[in-house]
Amino acid sequence: MNEPSVASFIDGRTVATSAVYENIDPSTGRSLGEVSRAGAAQVDEAVATARAAHRSWRATTPEHRGDLLCCLADLIDTHTEELARLESEDSGKPLTQARNDARVCARYFRFYGRAIDSYYGLSIPLRPDLHVYTRREPHGVTGHILAWNYPLQLFARRVAPALATGNCAVVKPADETPRTALALARLARTAGLPSGVLNVVTGLGAETGAALAAHPGIDHLGFVGSTRVGSLVAAAAAERVSPVTLELGGKSAHMVFADADVPKAAEVAARAILQNAGQTCSAGSRVLVHESVHAEMVERIAAHFAKVTIGPGLTDPDLGPLISRKQQERVRGYVDGVGTGTGNGSGSGSGEIVFGGTVAEPAGITEGAYFLPTLIDGVDPAASIAQEEVFGPVLATFPFATEEEAVALANGTEYALLGAVWTADLSRAHRVAAEVEAGQVYVNTYGAGGGVELPFGGSRKSGYGREKGVEALDSCTATKTVVVQL
Ligand code: NAD
Repeated sequence: MNEPSVASFIDGRTVATSAVYENIDPSTGRSLGEVSRAGAAQVDEAVATARAAHRSWRATTPEHRGDLLCCLADLIDTHTEELARLESEDSGKPLTQARNDARVCARYFRFYGRAIDSYYGLSIPLRPDLHVYTRREPHGVTGHILAWNYPLQLFARRVAPALATGNCAVVKPADETPRTALALARLARTAGLPSGVLNVVTGLGAETGAALAAHPGIDHLGFVGSTRVGSLVAAAAAERVSPVTLELGGKSAHMVFADADVPKAAEVAARAILQNAGQTCSAGSRVLVHESVHAEMVERIAAHFAKVTIGPGLTDPDLGPLISRKQQERVRGYVDGVGTGTGNGSGSGSGEIVFGGTVAEPAGITEGAYFLPTLIDGVDPAASIAQEEVFGPVLATFPFATEEEAVALANGTEYALLGAVWTADLSRAHRVAAEVEAGQVYVNTYGAGGGVELPFGGSRKSGYGREKGVEALDSCTATKTVVVQL
């Protein structure tokens, strides 16, 4: 596979613009090259192309679409190494994590390629003289605006069910990570996907993304990113009454009870916040611990952090850089106030930094975007670092005394994405799982290896709608009811 040139991919062709921006490698601060900035004209072209391709694509059989998606999955598997390298350079993520993302990306295409054969409407026995049935029909042209933290996975989890159900797609990858989206679109052509069915527009969010969100030819929009931009995108879609799926931020909590396997909980919580340098929407960034095991938990997490290797993504450390120097500054801003006793606003200066707390310069790399794994204890639950999504390798621990207090703390932010219960008490596990406001709850574990098959999504400031699993097929289709007088 040749390295893709970094410009939009429309109707099977590369469409470049004279306007470009620099793609910066966060591991080194160096430029990886220029990226074409698609404007309204290129977005228009991509949507028109997808519209033209839709008539024949929606008429293909599920079996045919499934075969193509499975073939694409096989190609992705064959190209894991190239895809992982591009992903690691663009995002800074450690190579092992990027390889895993490529494998999960292939699994999405295979899962929906296989599932679409058995995705049916209903027959409704309303009256003996009426034959009533439902059809699941594609929306038409779907738009997808993606975040930079898991580019391969996010692309696949949105695009695979959309194509499987007979939609065409226009994808806007994140500004920082355009290259694997282009590589996937090219592999899809190699797999036999007709030109125009899948198009990628590269560019900046406020230009290319905004043009896609506001485009009248988009029948359904999927957005993965921050709560602030998600609400802008949803407002633009609302102007033309277009449905939207929003996958936004999170502030998810582990709840570790006194009877939990504390060593395991500490290990999993530490590993989960280190993954992708904490830049994961579903990161368990808060650890609520029963007061009787609180000190042990803090000590164990700090011991895990002490062993972490840090470096450029391609050297495959435990912890790579953050996505950018800007993100590094943002994380530093949250951490700097901790323990000063002087923070302004609710409780900002409370707490203590148990481990880390500052930027890092591994191997003397001064232009990278590294931040030490950081553990903060005892911060006021109302403080901004305890309430807002930090999006860095920063974990905050909070003691609790009762189950009610743990649930109240877990539900005490504006987000509602994930939760985890660590306990040996089966009844408590189910009771708390029901009480936690989240789209997914884990018991004595966290995450599920990509979770391709598991419905995923949040509520409140974490967004709405569901992706992944068979539910994504419902999101990608509209139900038509047909009533026939016999
Ligand atoms: P972001 O909101 O800055 O950008 C997301 C996408 O929106 C990018 O493609 C960007 O170019 C585009 N964009 C920016 N401004 C736009 C505008 N005005 N109009 C249209 N599009 C615009 O988010 P980010 O910094 O790339 O990603 C981090 C966020 O994504 C975090 O909050 C994280 O929690 C969230 N996220 C959520 C999930 C989930 O499934 N819930 C998954 C991954 C990431």
